[in-house]
Amino acid sequence: MVQLFFAKELGFCWGVERSIKLAAQAKNENPGKVTILKEIVHNRQVVDFFKKKGVGQEDSLDNIDSGTLVISAHGISPQLKKQARAKGLQIVDTTCPLVERVHKIAKKLIGEGYQIILYGEPEHDEVMGVIGIDPDNIFLLAEYGDINKLPHFRGKLALLTQTTRGIESFAKVSQRMAELYLGIRIEKTICRATEKRQAAVYELAPEMDLMLVIGSASSGNSRRLHDIASNVCARAYLLDAPEQIEWYWFDGIHRVGLTAGASTPSFAVEMIVNAIYEHVGIDLDHSDPRISDYLLFESRKNVQ
Ligand code: SF4
Repeated sequence: MVQLFFAKELGFCWGVERSIKLAAQAKNENPGKVTILKEIVHNRQVVDFFKKKGVGQEDSLDNIDSGTLVISAHGISPQLKKQARAKGLQIVDTTCPLVERVHKIAKKLIGEGYQIILYGEPEHDEVMGVIGIDPDNIFLLAEYGDINKLPHFRGKLALLTQTTRGIESFAKVSQRMAELYLGIRIEKTICRATEKRQAAVYELAPEMDLMLVIGSASSGNSRRLHDIASNVCARAYLLDAPEQIEWYWFDGIHRVGLTAGASTPSFAVEMIVNAIYEHVGIDLDHSDPRISDYLLFESRKNVQ
């Protein structure tokens, strides 16, 4: 039997909830073809939900020629949006307003003559959307170790970040960039939901014997939570379904911490909590009181 604790902040953020709601609404209100460009949010279960609902998904706008186009929470570049309009597609834009904010800041800075370094993951949908604003003047910095590979900049320079990057790694990058480029303008565009979820892992994980981060491997914000947990806790695993649990992880373990990425639905958390309850047992008297809310009816019956 283990004690189970939740991070203070975990699971769906409002931007993800909004995006899912708008995409579902688009399907319900449009009898014709509805297609999402890329994954609506980076979570396997959510992606499957839309597939089952009959919503299409394409990786390229080239493959969408009619009907309604749903833009994901991560947004797209202005050029791509223009191409979609030119194709006559009806557009439902579910871009998170906090990603839109990064676009607005980038456009404003470009207009003021800045060149921009974007600290983000290569090939991430959000990052490609922001770089697409002005690929000649927005440069990707993927890792701290790549700083010395950046081109030599003259003139006005700004540093922005993908909304879901690590708080600490961005602080480290900012410090180094400020040393190298005097007067660089630094805009911390990490979103509040990301900050809160990361801070909660920094708080909880050092006290735990094992940390479980619930989220899909495709989810950048979940991977970041896993990176943090791995650095401050002896053992940490990233998973999105109970079948991925290896039960030996719990051998000799007393305190288990649990968090979930901003794109992880609560039923994924519920399934994992219930699997732990069934296989290992949860000491409910010495666990997070919120755990009971996640136990399914059959399990609750056994507790009473
Ligand atoms: S993680 Fe942040 S940027 Fe991404 S959808 Fe949620 S609130 Fe928006």
